[in-house]
Amino acid sequence: MEGHTLGVHPLSAENAAHLRASLPHTRPAKLPKGLPSFGCGDRLGLANPGHLRTLKQYRVAPILAQQSIRELNLTGRTFTQVIDAATWAVLQEGYRDGFGADGDHLKSLEEVKLAVESGVSMITLDLSLVLGSPGAEPCPSELQDLAGRTLSYHGECMTLDAAGIDGFWRTYRAALAFVMAAEAVCRAKHGAGCYDLEISVDETPHTTLAVDHLLLALECRRRGIDVFSMAPRFPGEFQKGIDYRGDLREFEAAFAVHAAIAAEFGYKISVHSGSDKFAVFPIVASLTGGGFHEKTAGTSWLEACRVVAQRSPDLFRRIYTAARGFFPEAKKYYHIVTELPDVPSLDGLADKDLPGLLEQEASRQYLHITYGQILRAPELGPALMQVLESQEEAYYLALDKHFRRHLDGLGITRR
Ligand code: ZN
Repeated sequence: MEGHTLGVHPLSAENAAHLRASLPHTRPAKLPKGLPSFGCGDRLGLANPGHLRTLKQYRVAPILAQQSIRELNLTGRTFTQVIDAATWAVLQEGYRDGFGADGDHLKSLEEVKLAVESGVSMITLDLSLVLGSPGAEPCPSELQDLAGRTLSYHGECMTLDAAGIDGFWRTYRAALAFVMAAEAVCRAKHGAGCYDLEISVDETPHTTLAVDHLLLALECRRRGIDVFSMAPRFPGEFQKGIDYRGDLREFEAAFAVHAAIAAEFGYKISVHSGSDKFAVFPIVASLTGGGFHEKTAGTSWLEACRVVAQRSPDLFRRIYTAARGFFPEAKKYYHIVTELPDVPSLDGLADKDLPGLLEQEASRQYLHITYGQILRAPELGPALMQVLESQEEAYYLALDKHFRRHLDGLGITRR
């Protein structure tokens, strides 16, 4: 091959960047339209090939690299390292069909710039810090003029009144300015229409009102903001690592309206903390016709814990015991229902019973949120990575089994 040389190169950041520059399919890109999409957060940098092996068998667009600033801080990684892991996975698996990278839960313009400069193709704007912030901008006349109009979405009629519009404006005016500034950063880097933008309000204290979603959609359209997906906060609880908690009929009623608004405006409904929510998957599938984005992250870490429990029970016992000391600090970052007294003890458990802890809600949440301290502990993190690297195929198989349940449950068809 004239002009080309073949050689063995280390999996360095420099070589990953070089690969992305020369082979387009190894770099993150805007996702194709018309397919459901699925986000796989890989907190270890080891799960991506497993994710790919499963996802490439389904008609779904994958986000391989997806981390929040919170996850990066807790694992001590950078966006670039997360994207590098995805690049190597694509190369390893011979995958050529494209993937995205999601800078998840970005709360400030500085975080947006960091993510975009690192090469993410998708930004997820978390509005929780700007919602309700004061602003000088008066309510646009186009919004005020909607007062008195009745709009119908999925059988629910919404009459827009001046008070509702005023309430929306007070809550969202600073958020809209943030979204516009963030989109400008993306556009400057990637060019118009060459990135995916998600707006998320799932980690706000209140369930998202349908009327607020509708007004936000209208205002984004009026301002020319190209929305890929929207993550409302739904009724009930989407807690980490466990199934949906709440009234399924209430969820279904609210989800139907949000999904109808999203379809009307041409974007997807995004389901955050979407792992293990098997009870709601049929509703998401039937009410969106595949027009959804599903986000998962910690569930792949829990499958790693399962492999350690199966293959290295002594290490698992050390991790599980140490996590008791990590738990109170970890609870500051994650809202979960589990308290320390709920967590099952290892006393009397035989080695063969250890993987069973990954079937119980309290122990799942306990391990789910303590990942950062576990991975950073010098006596635990490197040993855990070593076990997973030596049990690579077992980890991929565990992920495959778990993700098939998600993809099948969400009605995603096989290729
Ligand atoms: Zn979220």
